[in-house]
Amino acid sequence: MELPFAESYKIKVVESIRRSNREEREKWIHDAHYNLFQLKSDQIFIDLLTDSGTGAMSDKQWGGIMTGDESYAGASSYYKLKDAIADITGFPYFLPTHQGRAAENVLFSVLVKEGDIVPGNSHFDTTKGHIEFRRATAIDCTIDEAFDTTIDYPFKGNVDLGKLEDVLKKSGEKVPFIILTLTNNSAGGQPVSLENMRDVRDLANRYNKLVLYDSARFAENAYFIKLREPACRDKSIREIVAEAFSYADMMTMSSKKDAIVNMGGFIAMRDQELFRQCSVFNIMFEGYITYGGMSGRDMNALAQGLYEGTDFDYLETRIKQVEYLGNMLLDFSIPLQQPIGGHAIFIDVKRFLPHLPKEEFPAQTLAIQLYIEAGIRGVEIGTLMADRDPVTRENRYPALEMVRLAIPRRVYTNNHMDVVAVALKNVFDRRNEIKSGLRITQEAPIMRHFTVELEPLAT
Ligand SMILES: *Cc1c(COP(=O)(O)O)cnc(C)c1O
Repeated sequence: MELPFAESYKIKVVESIRRSNREEREKWIHDAHYNLFQLKSDQIFIDLLTDSGTGAMSDKQWGGIMTGDESYAGASSYYKLKDAIADITGFPYFLPTHQGRAAENVLFSVLVKEGDIVPGNSHFDTTKGHIEFRRATAIDCTIDEAFDTTIDYPFKGNVDLGKLEDVLKKSGEKVPFIILTLTNNSAGGQPVSLENMRDVRDLANRYNKLVLYDSARFAENAYFIKLREPACRDKSIREIVAEAFSYADMMTMSSKKDAIVNMGGFIAMRDQELFRQCSVFNIMFEGYITYGGMSGRDMNALAQGLYEGTDFDYLETRIKQVEYLGNMLLDFSIPLQQPIGGHAIFIDVKRFLPHLPKEEFPAQTLAIQLYIEAGIRGVEIGTLMADRDPVTRENRYPALEMVRLAIPRRVYTNNHMDVVAVALKNVFDRRNEIKSGLRITQEAPIMRHFTVELEPLAT
Protein backbone atom coordinates (compact mmCIF):
# COMPACT_ATOMS: atom_id res chain seq x y z
CA MET A 1 0.00 0.00 0.00
CA GLU A 2 1.17 3.53 -0.74
CA LEU A 3 1.70 5.49 2.46
CA PRO A 4 -0.74 8.36 2.97
CA PHE A 5 0.47 11.95 2.88
CA ALA A 6 1.25 13.56 6.24
CA GLU A 7 2.47 16.92 7.52
CA SER A 8 6.21 17.65 7.35
CA TYR A 9 6.27 18.86 10.97
CA LYS A 10 4.93 17.91 14.42
CA ILE A 11 3.37 20.10 17.12
CA LYS A 12 5.42 21.39 20.08
CA VAL A 13 3.21 24.14 21.58
CA VAL A 14 -0.59 24.34 21.62
CA GLU A 15 -3.18 27.05 22.26
CA SER A 16 -6.73 26.30 23.45
CA ILE A 17 -9.72 27.43 21.41
CA ARG A 18 -13.34 27.38 22.55
CA ARG A 19 -16.53 26.32 20.82
CA SER A 20 -19.52 28.59 21.46
CA ASN A 21 -23.22 28.12 20.80
CA ARG A 22 -25.41 29.68 18.15
CA GLU A 23 -27.25 31.95 20.58
CA GLU A 24 -23.98 33.46 21.82
CA ARG A 25 -22.75 33.96 18.28
CA GLU A 26 -25.96 35.67 17.16
CA LYS A 27 -25.57 38.18 19.98
CA TRP A 28 -21.86 38.71 19.38
CA ILE A 29 -22.22 39.35 15.66
CA HIS A 30 -25.09 41.76 16.31
CA ASP A 31 -22.91 43.64 18.82
CA ALA A 32 -20.12 43.66 16.20
CA HIS A 33 -22.46 45.40 13.72
CA TYR A 34 -22.26 42.44 11.36
CA ASN A 35 -18.59 43.16 10.72
CA LEU A 36 -16.39 40.11 11.38
CA PHE A 37 -13.35 42.37 11.95
CA GLN A 38 -15.11 43.72 15.04
CA LEU A 39 -15.39 40.34 16.81
CA LYS A 40 -13.08 39.39 19.67
CA SER A 41 -10.85 36.43 18.95
CA ASP A 42 -12.32 34.38 21.83
CA GLN A 43 -15.70 34.64 20.10
CA ILE A 44 -14.25 32.58 17.24
CA PHE A 45 -13.65 28.84 17.04
CA ILE A 46 -11.78 28.54 13.75
CA ASP A 47 -10.32 31.78 12.48
CA LEU A 48 -9.88 31.89 8.72
CA LEU A 49 -10.03 35.67 8.47
CA THR A 50 -6.55 35.82 7.07
CA ASP A 51 -3.31 33.89 6.64
CA SER A 52 -1.46 37.12 7.40
CA GLY A 53 0.63 37.11 10.56
CA THR A 54 -1.36 34.15 11.89
CA GLY A 55 1.16 31.39 11.16
CA ALA A 56 2.91 29.22 13.74
CA MET A 57 6.63 29.92 14.02
CA SER A 58 9.04 27.01 14.19
CA ASP A 59 11.37 26.08 17.06
CA LYS A 60 14.26 27.50 15.01
CA GLN A 61 12.41 30.80 14.54
CA TRP A 62 11.72 31.02 18.28
CA GLY A 63 15.40 30.27 18.81
CA GLY A 64 16.18 33.31 16.65
CA ILE A 65 13.92 35.40 18.88
CA MET A 66 16.21 34.65 21.84
CA THR A 67 19.38 35.62 19.99
CA GLY A 68 18.15 38.82 18.32
CA ASP A 69 20.56 41.75 18.30
CA GLU A 70 18.70 44.89 19.41
CA SER A 71 21.42 47.40 18.55
CA TYR A 72 19.89 50.56 17.09
CA ALA A 73 22.38 50.64 14.22
CA GLY A 74 24.32 47.83 12.56
CA ALA A 75 22.59 44.93 14.34
CA SER A 76 23.81 41.47 13.35
CA SER A 77 20.13 40.48 12.91
CA TYR A 78 19.88 43.06 10.14
CA TYR A 79 22.86 41.57 8.31
CA LYS A 80 21.53 38.07 8.78
CA LEU A 81 18.25 39.14 7.18
CA LYS A 82 20.05 41.06 4.42
CA ASP A 83 22.03 37.93 3.56
CA ALA A 84 18.89 35.73 3.54
CA ILE A 85 17.04 38.15 1.23
CA ALA A 86 20.01 38.43 -1.14
CA ASP A 87 20.45 34.64 -1.10
CA ILE A 88 16.80 33.91 -1.88
CA THR A 89 15.74 36.83 -4.11
CA GLY A 90 19.04 38.07 -5.55
CA PHE A 91 18.29 41.68 -4.49
CA PRO A 92 21.41 43.28 -2.94
CA TYR A 93 19.63 46.21 -1.23
CA PHE A 94 16.82 46.02 1.28
CA LEU A 95 14.95 48.05 3.89
CA PRO A 96 12.98 46.48 6.75
CA THR A 97 9.47 47.83 7.41
CA HIS A 98 6.86 46.96 10.00
CA GLN A 99 4.64 45.21 7.44
CA GLY A 100 3.83 45.05 3.73
CA ARG A 101 1.75 48.20 3.45
CA ALA A 102 4.56 50.17 5.09
CA ALA A 103 6.87 48.91 2.35
CA GLU A 104 4.32 50.19 -0.18
CA ASN A 105 4.11 53.53 1.60
CA VAL A 106 7.89 54.02 1.55
CA LEU A 107 8.44 52.85 -2.04
CA PHE A 108 5.42 54.71 -3.46
CA SER A 109 6.52 57.89 -1.69
CA VAL A 110 9.49 57.79 -4.05
CA LEU A 111 7.85 56.45 -7.20
CA VAL A 112 4.13 57.37 -7.38
CA LYS A 113 2.80 60.89 -7.93
CA GLU A 114 -0.59 62.45 -8.70
CA GLY A 115 -1.99 61.48 -12.09
CA ASP A 116 0.19 58.37 -12.42
CA ILE A 117 -1.16 55.08 -13.72
CA VAL A 118 -0.02 51.78 -12.21
CA PRO A 119 -1.04 48.73 -14.24
CA GLY A 120 -0.91 45.24 -12.75
CA ASN A 121 -2.78 42.03 -11.99
CA SER A 122 -5.57 42.73 -9.46
CA HIS A 123 -3.75 45.03 -7.02
CA PHE A 124 -4.05 44.07 -3.38
CA ASP A 125 -6.38 46.37 -1.39
CA THR A 126 -3.65 48.22 0.55
CA THR A 127 -1.59 48.53 -2.63
CA LYS A 128 -4.52 50.09 -4.43
CA GLY A 129 -5.17 52.23 -1.34
CA HIS A 130 -1.63 53.60 -1.40
CA ILE A 131 -1.91 54.32 -5.14
CA GLU A 132 -5.30 56.04 -4.90
CA PHE A 133 -4.29 57.96 -1.78
CA ARG A 134 -1.65 59.63 -3.98
CA ARG A 135 -4.35 60.47 -6.57
CA ALA A 136 -2.95 57.94 -8.99
CA THR A 137 -4.90 55.14 -10.71
CA ALA A 138 -4.48 51.36 -10.51
CA ILE A 139 -5.47 49.55 -13.71
CA ASP A 140 -6.22 45.84 -13.52
CA CYS A 141 -4.77 43.92 -16.48
CA THR A 142 -5.46 40.39 -15.20
CA ILE A 143 -6.45 37.81 -17.83
CA ASP A 144 -10.22 37.37 -18.30
CA GLU A 145 -10.05 33.69 -17.30
CA ALA A 146 -9.48 34.83 -13.70
CA PHE A 147 -13.01 36.21 -13.46
CA ASP A 148 -14.81 33.03 -14.45
CA THR A 149 -14.59 30.73 -11.43
CA THR A 150 -15.70 27.70 -13.46
CA ILE A 151 -12.72 27.73 -15.84
CA ASP A 152 -9.88 25.48 -14.78
CA TYR A 153 -6.81 27.42 -15.94
CA PRO A 154 -3.41 26.82 -14.31
CA PHE A 155 -2.24 30.44 -14.09
CA LYS A 156 -5.24 32.65 -13.44
CA GLY A 157 -2.96 35.23 -11.83
CA ASN A 158 -1.35 36.07 -15.19
CA VAL A 159 -1.27 39.51 -16.71
CA ASP A 160 -3.04 39.93 -20.05
CA LEU A 161 -0.16 41.24 -22.17
CA GLY A 162 -2.58 42.87 -24.62
CA LYS A 163 -4.32 44.84 -21.87
CA LEU A 164 -0.97 45.83 -20.38
CA GLU A 165 0.46 46.99 -23.70
CA ASP A 166 -2.69 49.06 -24.35
CA VAL A 167 -2.08 50.94 -21.09
CA LEU A 168 1.61 51.43 -21.91
CA LYS A 169 0.79 52.63 -25.44
CA LYS A 170 -1.97 54.99 -24.39
CA SER A 171 -0.48 56.46 -21.23
CA GLY A 172 3.04 55.08 -20.99
CA GLU A 173 4.59 58.35 -19.82
CA LYS A 174 2.36 58.27 -16.73
CA VAL A 175 3.34 54.74 -15.72
CA PRO A 176 6.05 54.71 -13.02
CA PHE A 177 6.18 50.89 -12.89
CA ILE A 178 4.25 47.71 -13.56
CA ILE A 179 3.18 45.71 -10.54
CA LEU A 180 2.88 41.93 -10.42
CA THR A 181 1.17 40.39 -7.40
CA LEU A 182 2.44 36.89 -6.53
CA THR A 183 0.13 35.08 -6.06
CA ASN A 184 -2.78 37.11 -7.30
CA ASN A 185 -4.74 37.33 -4.05
CA SER A 186 -7.81 39.23 -5.23
CA ALA A 187 -8.37 36.73 -8.05
CA GLY A 188 -8.31 33.83 -5.60
CA GLY A 189 -4.70 33.08 -4.65
CA GLN A 190 -4.01 32.28 -8.28
CA PRO A 191 -0.41 31.96 -9.48
CA VAL A 192 1.47 33.84 -12.17
CA SER A 193 3.55 31.67 -14.51
CA LEU A 194 7.28 32.15 -14.97
CA GLU A 195 6.60 32.56 -18.69
CA ASN A 196 4.20 35.42 -17.96
CA MET A 197 6.82 37.09 -15.72
CA ARG A 198 9.34 36.84 -18.55
CA ASP A 199 6.85 38.34 -21.03
CA VAL A 200 6.00 41.20 -18.67
CA ARG A 201 9.72 41.86 -18.31
CA ASP A 202 10.15 41.99 -22.10
CA LEU A 203 7.24 44.39 -22.43
CA ALA A 204 8.58 46.55 -19.60
CA ASN A 205 11.98 46.67 -21.30
CA ARG A 206 10.41 47.77 -24.58
CA TYR A 207 8.65 50.66 -22.83
CA ASN A 208 11.54 51.30 -20.44
CA LYS A 209 9.49 50.63 -17.29
CA LEU A 210 10.38 49.27 -13.87
CA VAL A 211 8.74 46.06 -12.64
CA LEU A 212 7.66 45.67 -9.00
CA TYR A 213 6.65 42.34 -7.48
CA ASP A 214 4.17 42.54 -4.63
CA SER A 215 5.63 39.34 -3.23
CA ALA A 216 3.64 38.29 -0.15
CA ARG A 217 3.08 34.74 -1.49
CA PHE A 218 6.04 34.34 -3.83
CA ALA A 219 6.90 30.89 -2.43
CA GLU A 220 3.39 29.49 -2.93
CA ASN A 221 3.54 30.96 -6.43
CA ALA A 222 6.81 29.09 -7.04
CA TYR A 223 5.25 25.83 -5.79
CA PHE A 224 2.47 26.14 -8.38
CA ILE A 225 5.01 26.93 -11.08
CA LYS A 226 6.91 23.75 -10.21
CA LEU A 227 3.72 21.68 -10.38
CA ARG A 228 2.00 23.28 -13.34
CA GLU A 229 4.64 24.73 -15.67
CA PRO A 230 6.14 21.80 -17.56
CA ALA A 231 9.50 23.53 -18.17
CA CYS A 232 9.98 23.94 -14.41
CA ARG A 233 9.16 20.46 -13.16
CA ASP A 234 12.77 19.59 -12.34
CA LYS A 235 13.71 22.94 -10.86
CA SER A 236 13.86 23.44 -7.11
CA ILE A 237 11.62 26.01 -5.40
CA ARG A 238 14.68 28.14 -4.71
CA GLU A 239 15.73 28.03 -8.38
CA ILE A 240 12.25 29.08 -9.49
CA VAL A 241 12.15 31.88 -6.91
CA ALA A 242 15.56 33.15 -8.04
CA GLU A 243 14.53 33.16 -11.69
CA ALA A 244 11.21 34.86 -10.90
CA PHE A 245 12.90 37.72 -9.07
CA SER A 246 15.50 38.05 -11.82
CA TYR A 247 12.67 39.53 -13.95
CA ALA A 248 11.86 42.24 -11.39
CA ASP A 249 13.61 45.47 -10.40
CA MET A 250 12.23 45.60 -6.88
CA MET A 251 9.87 43.89 -4.48
CA THR A 252 7.61 44.77 -1.59
CA MET A 253 7.05 42.00 0.92
CA SER A 254 4.52 41.34 3.61
CA SER A 255 6.58 38.89 5.67
CA LYS A 256 3.40 37.92 7.53
CA LYS A 257 2.52 35.56 4.67
CA ASP A 258 5.10 33.28 3.07
CA ALA A 259 7.90 34.17 5.51
CA ILE A 260 5.76 32.81 8.39
CA VAL A 261 6.33 35.58 10.93
CA ASN A 262 3.67 37.42 12.89
CA MET A 263 4.83 40.91 11.92
CA GLY A 264 7.25 42.41 9.45
CA GLY A 265 7.87 43.42 5.87
CA PHE A 266 10.55 44.78 3.59
CA ILE A 267 11.43 46.43 0.31
CA ALA A 268 14.26 44.99 -1.74
CA MET A 269 15.77 46.29 -4.93
CA ARG A 270 18.64 46.08 -7.38
CA ASP A 271 19.32 49.80 -7.79
CA GLN A 272 21.45 51.63 -5.23
CA GLU A 273 20.06 55.06 -6.07
CA LEU A 274 16.49 53.86 -5.49
CA PHE A 275 17.66 52.36 -2.20
CA ARG A 276 19.09 55.74 -1.17
CA GLN A 277 15.87 57.57 -2.03
CA CYS A 278 13.73 55.01 -0.20
CA SER A 279 16.05 55.15 2.84
CA VAL A 280 15.01 58.76 3.49
CA PHE A 281 11.33 57.82 3.70
CA ASN A 282 12.09 54.62 5.60
CA ILE A 283 13.90 56.61 8.30
CA MET A 284 11.02 59.09 8.42
CA PHE A 285 8.12 56.60 8.51
CA GLU A 286 9.58 53.34 9.85
CA GLY A 287 12.92 53.62 11.60
CA TYR A 288 16.64 53.72 10.95
CA ILE A 289 17.89 51.73 7.92
CA THR A 290 19.09 48.71 9.91
CA TYR A 291 15.81 48.08 11.78
CA GLY A 292 13.06 50.16 10.05
CA GLY A 293 10.00 49.04 11.97
CA MET A 294 11.32 45.67 13.17
CA SER A 295 13.12 44.53 16.29
CA GLY A 296 16.33 42.53 15.94
CA ARG A 297 14.68 39.33 17.22
CA ASP A 298 11.93 39.66 14.62
CA MET A 299 14.49 40.10 11.84
CA ASN A 300 16.17 36.88 13.02
CA ALA A 301 12.86 34.99 12.91
CA LEU A 302 12.15 36.43 9.47
CA ALA A 303 15.54 35.38 8.06
CA GLN A 304 14.84 31.81 9.21
CA GLY A 305 11.22 32.01 8.01
CA LEU A 306 12.31 32.90 4.48
CA TYR A 307 14.21 29.62 4.27
CA GLU A 308 11.42 27.54 5.84
CA GLY A 309 8.78 29.20 3.64
CA THR A 310 10.65 28.21 0.49
CA ASP A 311 11.12 24.58 1.56
CA PHE A 312 9.33 22.18 -0.78
CA ASP A 313 8.08 19.80 1.93
CA TYR A 314 6.59 22.64 3.93
CA LEU A 315 4.90 24.12 0.84
CA GLU A 316 3.51 20.74 -0.13
CA THR A 317 2.01 20.26 3.35
CA ARG A 318 0.51 23.71 3.27
CA ILE A 319 -1.00 23.64 -0.18
CA LYS A 320 -2.30 20.09 0.22
CA GLN A 321 -4.24 21.21 3.29
CA VAL A 322 -5.93 23.99 1.33
CA GLU A 323 -6.66 21.44 -1.40
CA TYR A 324 -8.05 18.98 1.18
CA LEU A 325 -10.62 21.55 2.31
CA GLY A 326 -11.38 22.60 -1.25
CA ASN A 327 -11.97 19.06 -2.43
CA MET A 328 -14.42 18.38 0.41
CA LEU A 329 -16.36 21.51 -0.51
CA LEU A 330 -16.42 20.52 -4.17
CA ASP A 331 -17.81 17.13 -3.14
CA PHE A 332 -20.63 19.05 -1.45
CA SER A 333 -21.19 20.95 -4.76
CA ILE A 334 -20.24 24.27 -3.19
CA PRO A 335 -19.17 26.74 -5.92
CA LEU A 336 -15.48 27.73 -5.60
CA GLN A 337 -12.82 29.54 -7.56
CA GLN A 338 -11.04 26.79 -9.46
CA PRO A 339 -8.39 25.60 -9.52
CA ILE A 340 -8.05 25.83 -5.74
CA GLY A 341 -5.53 28.55 -4.85
CA GLY A 342 -2.51 28.49 -2.56
CA HIS A 343 -3.51 30.09 0.72
CA ALA A 344 -7.28 30.08 0.72
CA ILE A 345 -10.59 28.84 -0.58
CA PHE A 346 -12.63 31.43 -2.45
CA ILE A 347 -16.36 30.74 -2.45
CA ASP A 348 -18.18 32.10 -5.48
CA VAL A 349 -21.14 33.79 -3.81
CA LYS A 350 -22.86 34.80 -7.03
CA ARG A 351 -23.38 31.05 -7.53
CA PHE A 352 -23.90 30.24 -3.82
CA LEU A 353 -26.62 32.88 -3.22
CA PRO A 354 -27.73 33.74 -6.77
CA HIS A 355 -31.06 35.11 -5.53
CA LEU A 356 -29.50 37.93 -3.44
CA PRO A 357 -29.12 41.29 -5.25
CA LYS A 358 -25.55 42.68 -5.35
CA GLU A 359 -26.69 45.81 -3.47
CA GLU A 360 -27.32 43.64 -0.39
CA PHE A 361 -23.67 42.50 0.00
CA PRO A 362 -24.22 38.79 -0.63
CA ALA A 363 -20.64 37.77 0.22
CA GLN A 364 -20.75 39.55 3.58
CA THR A 365 -24.15 37.92 4.18
CA LEU A 366 -22.67 34.47 3.59
CA ALA A 367 -19.63 35.18 5.79
CA ILE A 368 -22.00 36.17 8.63
CA GLN A 369 -24.06 32.99 8.13
CA LEU A 370 -20.96 30.81 8.32
CA TYR A 371 -19.94 32.51 11.55
CA ILE A 372 -23.37 31.98 13.10
CA GLU A 373 -23.36 28.34 11.94
CA ALA A 374 -20.10 27.26 13.59
CA GLY A 375 -18.00 30.16 14.85
CA ILE A 376 -15.87 30.15 11.71
CA ARG A 377 -14.58 33.51 10.57
CA GLY A 378 -13.90 34.07 6.87
CA VAL A 379 -13.76 37.39 5.07
CA GLU A 380 -15.72 39.14 2.36
CA ILE A 381 -13.81 39.82 -0.86
CA GLY A 382 -16.53 41.56 -2.78
CA THR A 383 -18.50 44.78 -2.91
CA LEU A 384 -17.62 45.91 0.62
CA MET A 385 -13.92 45.51 -0.01
CA ALA A 386 -14.13 46.95 -3.54
CA ASP A 387 -15.25 50.20 -1.87
CA ARG A 388 -16.54 53.28 -3.64
CA ASP A 389 -15.09 54.88 -6.76
CA PRO A 390 -12.82 57.67 -5.45
CA VAL A 391 -14.24 60.15 -7.96
CA THR A 392 -17.94 59.33 -8.32
CA ARG A 393 -18.31 57.87 -4.78
CA GLU A 394 -20.55 55.17 -6.26
CA ASN A 395 -20.25 51.59 -4.99
CA ARG A 396 -17.97 49.49 -7.18
CA TYR A 397 -19.32 46.05 -8.00
CA PRO A 398 -16.40 43.70 -8.70
CA ALA A 399 -16.59 40.89 -11.23
CA LEU A 400 -16.27 38.37 -8.40
CA GLU A 401 -18.26 38.39 -5.17
CA MET A 402 -16.43 35.98 -2.84
CA VAL A 403 -15.97 34.76 0.69
CA ARG A 404 -12.36 33.87 1.39
CA LEU A 405 -11.42 31.19 3.87
CA ALA A 406 -7.71 31.80 4.42
CA ILE A 407 -5.78 28.99 6.06
CA PRO A 408 -3.12 30.09 8.58
CA ARG A 409 0.24 28.38 8.09
CA ARG A 410 1.00 25.35 10.31
CA VAL A 411 -1.89 26.22 12.71
CA TYR A 412 -4.98 24.06 12.15
CA THR A 413 -5.28 20.32 11.56
CA ASN A 414 -7.34 18.60 8.90
CA ASN A 415 -9.98 17.87 11.58
CA HIS A 416 -10.59 21.62 11.72
CA MET A 417 -10.93 21.59 7.94
CA ASP A 418 -13.61 18.88 8.30
CA VAL A 419 -15.61 21.16 10.61
CA VAL A 420 -15.33 24.04 8.16
CA ALA A 421 -16.53 21.89 5.27
CA VAL A 422 -19.57 20.55 7.11
CA ALA A 423 -20.53 23.99 8.48
CA LEU A 424 -20.45 25.42 4.99
CA LYS A 425 -22.47 22.49 3.66
CA ASN A 426 -25.13 23.17 6.31
CA VAL A 427 -25.37 26.81 5.20
CA PHE A 428 -25.46 25.68 1.56
CA ASP A 429 -28.32 23.27 2.30
CA ARG A 430 -30.41 26.12 3.75
CA ARG A 431 -29.32 28.78 1.24
CA ASN A 432 -32.86 29.38 0.00
CA GLU A 433 -33.92 30.41 3.51
CA ILE A 434 -31.43 33.31 3.31
CA LYS A 435 -33.85 35.72 1.70
CA SER A 436 -32.14 39.06 2.16
CA GLY A 437 -28.76 40.60 2.89
CA LEU A 438 -27.35 43.63 4.69
CA ARG A 439 -27.34 47.40 4.59
CA ILE A 440 -24.53 49.79 5.60
CA THR A 441 -25.21 52.11 8.54
CA GLN A 442 -21.70 53.56 8.94
CA GLU A 443 -18.62 53.61 6.71
CA ALA A 444 -15.14 55.17 6.45
CA PRO A 445 -14.05 57.11 3.34
CA ILE A 446 -11.31 54.60 2.41
CA MET A 447 -10.77 50.84 3.06
CA ARG A 448 -14.21 50.74 4.61
CA HIS A 449 -14.45 46.97 5.07
CA PHE A 450 -12.30 47.05 8.22
CA THR A 451 -14.63 49.32 10.19
CA VAL A 452 -17.95 49.32 8.31
CA GLU A 453 -21.13 48.85 10.36
CA LEU A 454 -24.08 46.96 8.88
CA GLU A 455 -27.51 45.69 9.77
CA PRO A 456 -29.65 42.90 8.34
CA LEU A 457 -32.39 44.02 5.97
CA ALA A 458 -34.76 41.55 7.60
CA THR A 459 -34.59 39.29 10.65
C1 LIG B 1 -0.84 41.21 2.85
C2 LIG B 1 -0.50 41.81 1.57
C3 LIG B 1 -0.08 43.13 1.46
C4 LIG B 1 0.00 44.08 2.64
O1 LIG B 1 0.82 43.60 3.62
P1 LIG B 1 0.56 43.85 5.19
O2 LIG B 1 1.69 43.13 5.83
O3 LIG B 1 -0.78 43.31 5.52
O4 LIG B 1 0.62 45.33 5.41
C5 LIG B 1 0.23 43.60 0.19
N1 LIG B 1 0.11 42.82 -0.89
C6 LIG B 1 -0.28 41.55 -0.81
C7 LIG B 1 -0.37 40.73 -2.04
C8 LIG B 1 -0.62 41.00 0.41
O5 LIG B 1 -1.05 39.74 0.47
